[in-house]
Amino acid sequence: MKAVELENVVKRFGNIVALRGITLTVEEGESIALLGPNGAGKTTVVKLIAGLLKPSRGTVRVFGEVPWKNYGVRKRIGVVSHNTFLYEDLTAYENLLFYCRLYDAEEGRIDELLEFFGLKGRKHDLVRGFSRGMKQRLSIARALLHDPPLLILDEPTTGLDIEGRRELLELLTEVGEEKTVIFTTHDVREVEGICGRVAIIKDGRVVYCGVVEEDLEELYMRAIYEGA
Ligand code: ATP
Repeated sequence: MKAVELENVVKRFGNIVALRGITLTVEEGESIALLGPNGAGKTTVVKLIAGLLKPSRGTVRVFGEVPWKNYGVRKRIGVVSHNTFLYEDLTAYENLLFYCRLYDAEEGRIDELLEFFGLKGRKHDLVRGFSRGMKQRLSIARALLHDPPLLILDEPTTGLDIEGRRELLELLTEVGEEKTVIFTTHDVREVEGICGRVAIIKDGRVVYCGVVEEDLEELYMRAIYEGA
């Protein structure tokens, strides 16, 4: 089954055309990276998939449903963005408990996820005192509480140092073994080892989509500057 299908999707914001006819399919269980420079349209694509935006034209389907119309399918998606959606004045545990109740998820998942993301020892500490990397790991734990089959990660490593990035990418590789993952970044080096396929977006269009069998950095530069 297809996890995600976008067909000829156009998205306008007033006079700005963010997406100019995007067609993209993601198979269930697949991990795909959306690459592209600033302003290419990556976040707009993930917001459409998450049901946070409605397309101006074309169709978006997630597990066969239209996400902006269907709340049920949105429960099958976990989203991580630049905004961690964490409450600084709550502890790590309290944050996850809050979201657990909101999503109607199993409270037993909290300890499991805190352990997986290396935060068990900080369970009862306020998020206010967490480093950027710890907040980002907790934010991913939050997105996984309801065990969604589709995980969307919109530039999850923004603001992390090299070590924080490496740790997070290792954890995400493990998470990706069991889920469909859509990962956006403008750093091509992050994709290796995580995503089997890449879609390169430029000016609201997919300029390359496929498995990478050559040097990704070269392919990316060619796609962005020469259009193929
Ligand atoms: P970045 O890597 O910088 O996050 P991106 O590839 O995610 O960029 P988008 O955020 O999807 O790009 O933006 C694509 C285009 O759509 C940009 O020109 C942006 O200014 C425009 N855009 C996105 N959201 C809105 C909005 N709510 N209102 C107006 N324009 C918007």
